Amino acid sequence: MTGARRVKVLGDLYHGQVPAGAVYAGRAAPGLPASRYANRHRIGQCRACPAVHGRSGALLGYARDLADRPDLVAAARAELAGADVACWCSLDGEPCHVDVLLAVVAGAEPLGAAVDVLAAAEAHEAVDRLF
Ligand SMILES: [Zn+2]
Ligand SMILES: [Zn+2]
Repeated sequence: MTGARRVKVLGDLYHGQVPAGAVYAGRAAPGLPASRYANRHRIGQCRACPAVHGRSGALLGYARDLADRPDLVAAARAELAGADVACWCSLDGEPCHVDVLLAVVAGAEPLGAAVDVLAAAEAHEAVDRLF
């Protein structure tokens, strides 16, 4: 248990503010440089791969990227242990790439972390939207 949490960026898309002490893990936005922990796989027509992603597909794409980047996983474990990690997603229970990232920081293997996050969030819908 690292104590790391996902938190939400404050303000709106044009005036985003990362909560004090948190590390931003999102894409570039006005006033916020892109994080190296951002998910390049977006929901809908992806620009990083040929897929049209649902939320679960975008998460799995992120997990695959992390699995291919042991250097980034090592950096995340060093930088984010115990940190709050900020993203734009609402905290209403929909899974987000930061949930995968936090599980990986806590020691999980990326693809296993993504499967666990999806299973915990919505087992049935996740399976339906995988492809
Ligand atoms: Zn993609
Ligand atoms: Zn998010």
